[in-house]
Amino acid sequence: MIDELEEMLAEITGFAATSLQPNSGAAGEYTGLITIASYLESKDQRHRKVVLIPASAHGTNPASAVQAGFKPVTVASDAKGNVDMDDLRSKVEQYKDDLAAYMITYPSTHGIFETEIKEMCRLIHEAGGQVYMDGANMNAQVGFTNPGTIGADVCHLNLHKTFAIPHGGGGPGVGPVCVAEHLVPFLPGHPVSLPTDKNSVSAAAYGSAGVLEITYAYIRMMGADGLREATEAAILNANYLAEKLNDIYGIVYRGANGRVGHELILECRGLKEVSGITETDIAKRMIDYGYHAPTLSFPVHGTLMVEPTESECLVELDRFVDTMNQIHQEIIEVSRGEYSPEDNVLVNAPHPEYEVVGDEWNHAYPRSKAAYPLPFVAENKFWVNVARIDNAYGDRNLVSCLCQM
Ligand SMILES: *Cc1c(COP(=O)(O)O)cnc(C)c1O
Repeated sequence: MIDELEEMLAEITGFAATSLQPNSGAAGEYTGLITIASYLESKDQRHRKVVLIPASAHGTNPASAVQAGFKPVTVASDAKGNVDMDDLRSKVEQYKDDLAAYMITYPSTHGIFETEIKEMCRLIHEAGGQVYMDGANMNAQVGFTNPGTIGADVCHLNLHKTFAIPHGGGGPGVGPVCVAEHLVPFLPGHPVSLPTDKNSVSAAAYGSAGVLEITYAYIRMMGADGLREATEAAILNANYLAEKLNDIYGIVYRGANGRVGHELILECRGLKEVSGITETDIAKRMIDYGYHAPTLSFPVHGTLMVEPTESECLVELDRFVDTMNQIHQEIIEVSRGEYSPEDNVLVNAPHPEYEVVGDEWNHAYPRSKAAYPLPFVAENKFWVNVARIDNAYGDRNLVSCLCQM
């Protein structure tokens, strides 16, 4: 079954072979990069140490490059959120003798299918580098295109993002790497085989083997047509939200055809200017409506990045739109002076049950506005455990147990 899964993933990515050993996307990146390192070594090219990475990349890309012994160099984005091709050309020229690889996310974390993707791969190969395609956004490609088609050499997948393994809560994850023919000999070996465990990245030969059957069953049950349909739904859902939310928030980046890919970045900076309400306040207020906040201030500061995925139905998407509209309305109330900048439902969000049912209530707005902002919330309220916490304090002060102080 594991062999079959490896073959299915190789076919989906357009590559020759798969290693299921890495336990996360980041571990997949590391694995792909050490695979590239071994390949370069076999060609007497071990001096090649530079990995070019676009500014829009996920933070794990440069981190993995450093872990694998490479030197990351950033490539700028242009005003539309695409890789700045002039900067890429000049960096390739500057580093051509030391260029090991290019790490490119497609579609990008700006939610865009970059039209120059094939040209990017060609430039890198011409300079003697390898192309690593970060496949975390593969749910926008499956059944339509793949990293093999665009000319990449290696990619990782996140089975816990694109292939049905439950995502979140800390794992277990699976971040397989798929590679083109010339890299196959350098894939991870068996971690306990003797005498060598070359390039192994996990203590277990098949990493998080216990969850692989989820992906196997998912692919088998979906079939080629079903997988393609899931990709269509992921892209359609993102574009539906982009159209619905365009007028009140604005979408930061769009592709050449005016559409987004599988995700969209909601502009919140204009609202901040008129009301003082920040993207963090919006994210915290969403909890009162029962939503886990989307990605905050990444990859663009002062924004929210929303990825509805193929999993949400129209009713759920509309509920999300209603929520974002209502929150927008609440921000306007603050900007009009109906509520003060210090005491409004946004800066005080989220509102936990202990506060709402407490005997003391010193806010300018009623409890019902805090807790039941829309009828659907009252019908099935999710109560958050704690009120607003100091994020920065939490990040800077490690608390290693949950004991009572
Ligand atoms: C999630 C993600 C990763 C890292 O994957 P993990 O499984 O969280 O380690 C890398 N790149 C991109 C673009 C991602 O979205």
